[in-house]
Amino acid sequence: MTVPYDPIFADGPGTGLAHPDSWWVHTAGPLPPDDGPAPAALDTEVAVIGGGYTGLSTALHLARRGRRVVVLEANRPGWGCSGRNGGFARMAFGRLSFGDMVGRFGLPAAKVLFRQAMASLDNVRQMIHDGGIDCEASEAGHLKIAPKPGRAAALQAEARLMQRELDYPAEFIDARTLQRDHLGGAQSHGALRVPDALALHPLKLAAGVLRMARGAGATVYSASPVVGWRKEGATHVLSTPHGTVRAAHVVVGTNGYTAPGLHPELKAVMMPILSHIIVTRPMTDAEVASSNFVTGHVLTDARKLMFYWRRLPDRRILFGGRGLIADTPGRTADHRRYLYRELIAKYPSLDGIAIEHDWHGWVAFTRDFLPRIRCAADDPTVHYAVGYQGSGVSLSLYAGRLIAARIDGDGSEPEIEAARHPVRPFPMHRLMRIPQRALFHWYRFLDSRP
Ligand SMILES: Cc1cc2nc3c(=O)[nH]c(=O)nc-3n(C[C@H](O)[C@H](O)[C@H](O)COP(=O)(O)OP(=O)(O)OC[C@H]3O[C@@H](n4cnc5c(N)ncnc54)[C@H](O)[C@@H]3O)c2cc1C
Repeated sequence: MTVPYDPIFADGPGTGLAHPDSWWVHTAGPLPPDDGPAPAALDTEVAVIGGGYTGLSTALHLARRGRRVVVLEANRPGWGCSGRNGGFARMAFGRLSFGDMVGRFGLPAAKVLFRQAMASLDNVRQMIHDGGIDCEASEAGHLKIAPKPGRAAALQAEARLMQRELDYPAEFIDARTLQRDHLGGAQSHGALRVPDALALHPLKLAAGVLRMARGAGATVYSASPVVGWRKEGATHVLSTPHGTVRAAHVVVGTNGYTAPGLHPELKAVMMPILSHIIVTRPMTDAEVASSNFVTGHVLTDARKLMFYWRRLPDRRILFGGRGLIADTPGRTADHRRYLYRELIAKYPSLDGIAIEHDWHGWVAFTRDFLPRIRCAADDPTVHYAVGYQGSGVSLSLYAGRLIAARIDGDGSEPEIEAARHPVRPFPMHRLMRIPQRALFHWYRFLDSRP
């Protein structure tokens, strides 16, 4: 019997694996080349572990600063979440709303954090522009939808808070306007509209950042998992199946795919959770009319086990959510049916629409639900950016830029204070799938309430 991959237990995410069979792979076109497997011996200034947005952006920004940098990716660039996400680039710091930020850090710090989240989205726009990345990016905006009438008041309060304290043009859209102008269905009871958010093709974005990083002088090795890490004096010595890489600094960008033995500070600090997406066939004219699913916004709902969805440019619906616990074919099929039921619960008139693609990936949660972009406590030459809580498109690309500035030491990019706290391990990490199951049941109960 093959044991399903689970980052809590596995030694690594594999070697040289192909991208999952996602909608994005079908529509990305030819992907750009990388530098193949790492050679037997290599000396560099900075070695980056993981070739997702975090790793590739770090490499790009370091190379632009004239640093010698190599990326070591176990599979292929963009293979992890970066090439398979929903393509929502938002002003996100984990899952915290602005109200949550105020509650956790106080108003002045929350305002700073919100501006940094905005800067992270601006950074995505800038990178797409600078690299001429054709990733179908549109200025979509984000609607956070009340799936029940009782959830609308909190969204209205959040809109007011953002207007008052940030002078930010968030707005509350009432149920009638939402159903008339954006999307109908059975669970559209008002929405918080945040105008700044992009909808994009995530794998094309990863491919674009790969091209940019190599163009700037970084080397990006694929099929090169780091399987050992030791220090010789001040030098890090990373082992791959083909040889060793010696570096003055190491950046870890492995997020939900981090193996427990990679680095002691990252052991047991992340809870990897599966996020699963289904993509339907294109809606017909009649289905668009009956559901009034006309909006181009990226969509999430105000639930503990949140769903995220959007209409794709060719009228398909991409619909994603969490709840899948084990990566086995049987469980995945059950979860695909669950996601479908939830989609149809939102849009009963779409019942029967076929699912043409589905896939999943591992996102990373931390104990306090805060992302981390920091140095190891006992070694300022070890840097990591992890724990995006499933909302990392903008923040991971921005993290790469911040880490590059830190390594360069010019102080040009203010760090994100809320992401610098030490990260605490989960107790009994290897048993976490048991409480996770119970927690998800509890969340479903909470979500079922009015
Ligand atoms: C289904 C799904 C939907 C999502 N939707 C959204 C969304 O719409 N918006 C949003 O903001 N966020 C979304 N996310 C989350 C977002 O994609 C991630 O937060 C982000 O891509 C993290 O990027 P990363 O580079 O840190 O990690 P990843 O892209 O996961 O890359 C980590 C890489 O590290 C490599 N690796 C691991 N161990 C080693 C090793 N030992 N040696 C070498 N390489 C190694 C892996 O092979 C992998 O390629 C979604 C995630 C999933 C799974």
